[in-house]
Amino acid sequence: MIRFLPLLLMIAGAIVYGRFLAWRTAKELDSKSVELVDPELRLVLGRLAQALDLPRIKVHLYEVPMINGLASHDGRIFLTRGFYDRFRSGKVTAEEIASVVAHELGHVALGHSRRRMIDFTGQNAVRMGLALVLSRVLGGLGVWVAQALVGLLMAGLSRRDEYEADSYATALLIKAGIGAGPQKSLFRKLGALAGSGTGQAPAWLLTHPKTEERIAAIEANEARWIRPAPDAPA
Ligand SMILES: [Zn+2]
Repeated sequence: MIRFLPLLLMIAGAIVYGRFLAWRTAKELDSKSVELVDPELRLVLGRLAQALDLPRIKVHLYEVPMINGLASHDGRIFLTRGFYDRFRSGKVTAEEIASVVAHELGHVALGHSRRRMIDFTGQNAVRMGLALVLSRVLGGLGVWVAQALVGLLMAGLSRRDEYEADSYATALLIKAGIGAGPQKSLFRKLGALAGSGTGQAPAWLLTHPKTEERIAAIEANEARWIRPAPDAPA
C-alpha cells in the first residue's frame, strides 16, 4: 500500500490542480465578459433559437483581442471581442458568427465542454502516474514518453469533438434556414487571416483540425442531409 502512496498523492494533487484551473477559467470569463447585445446578431441568433425551440440564445462577449469562440464548462457561450470586431467592421457576416455560436452550442449539447474539465483533470493524473511508472523503466525519458502518449490521446479526443460540433452546427444551420454556406466561408476567411503573415493566426484555428478537412466533412453531411441520394430508402 505504502508503495502506491506517492502515486495516490499525485493523483489527488492533479485533481485539486484541475479543479483550480477550472475555477480560475470561470473567474477569468466572469470578470472579462458581458452579455453581447447586438440587434443584427439577435436576429440571426433568434433563428437558431427557433430551430432549437428555445426562447433565445444568450451569448457573452469576452473582452480579449484574439479571434475565438468558446463554450465554458457550465454551458455558456462566449465570443471574443476580436471576433466581434471583425463582424462590426464587415469582415465577418452575422450568419458566419451564427455558425460559430452553433458550433459552440454543439460542444455544450454533446457534453464536450463538461467532459473537457474532467478530461483535463484526468489527463494530469494519468500523465503523472504514467510518468512515475515509466521513469522506473526508462529513467528521465519516462516523463517525455508519458507526455507524448497523453498528448496523442487528448489530440485524438479533441479532434473528434470538433468534427462532432461541426456536424451539430451544420444540422442546426440547415434547420434554421441559414444553411452551411456561412460555416464554410468563415473557415476560408479565417484560413486566409492565418496565412496573411500578420502573426495573428486566429486562436480558433489553432485548437481545431485542418480547415480543408473540416469543410470536406461539412460538405459530406450537407450532401446527405440536403440532397438524399436517389437510391436512399424512402
Ligand atoms: Zn470547437
